[in-house]
Amino acid sequence: MLEIKGLTVDLQDEDKSILKGVDLTVPAGEVHAIMGPNGSGKSTLSYVLSGKDGYAVTGGTATLNGIDLLEMEPEERAAAGLFLAFQYPVEIPGVGNMTFLRTAVNAQRKARGEDELSAGDFLKSVRAKAKDLQIDADMLKRPVNVGFSGGEKKRNEILQMAMLEPKMCILDETDSGLDVDAMKLVADGVNALRSEGRSFLVITHYQRLLDHIKPDVVHIMAHGRIIKSGGPELALEVENNGYADLLAEEA
Ligand code: ADP
Ligand code: MG
Ligand code: MG
Repeated sequence: MLEIKGLTVDLQDEDKSILKGVDLTVPAGEVHAIMGPNGSGKSTLSYVLSGKDGYAVTGGTATLNGIDLLEMEPEERAAAGLFLAFQYPVEIPGVGNMTFLRTAVNAQRKARGEDELSAGDFLKSVRAKAKDLQIDADMLKRPVNVGFSGGEKKRNEILQMAMLEPKMCILDETDSGLDVDAMKLVADGVNALRSEGRSFLVITHYQRLLDHIKPDVVHIMAHGRIIKSGGPELALEVENNGYADLLAEEA
């Protein structure tokens, strides 16, 4: 599904290297977690994959089902099935949440050569998915994320993901700032979307989320690289011992 080889990335405006040779393969149907100290490049990796500007790719490749992601516009990457749930969801004053979702869903359907959803079908679908995530009707009518609590913003990201039905879902610290109940809702939302044809890259600081979203593989990122990969037990090791031992091993 997602194949990243030797990816190196600099900040565009400064002479600063952030990703220093990332190798990562996520097969179809699998859930991979990335953990790692603050500042190790986890968000940068998710931004570069989704096409945020401000970064210069200086080497390596990133493909989605064999298609070169790095050459595509962000909306083309989305149409190809890539989705990023932001670490810091953006507020969009003046744009109703429901309008935003409907526009995004129909733009993607159009890009895939499918017909637009009828207003009725869209409403039915969005209401059912919002209900599962305990997002009420009022939140659907308000401008995107404006005045939402931290937890509501994160649940709204999952609602977008559920509506867009992407193939490759990247969640950047979607659990940060959530209380236990909200985290469970988010995890349930992700688990409901797990399928053979869909993969997840879950960036998290906490082992707790991985109790609910069982990963196939856990990767540790530090200093712009994946320094170790293993099974779910690697997340437990980090929870118990921190990163010190792993960083010493790397050094
Ligand atoms: P993580 O998500 O693992 O905490 P980030 O990808 O956010 O790490 O950041 C990696 C490093 O790159 C940090 O040192 C951060 O300060 C730096 N960085 C990322 N984006 C920018 C930017 N736009 N301007 C300046 N520094 C940046
Ligand atoms: Mg961080
Ligand atoms: Mg981050």
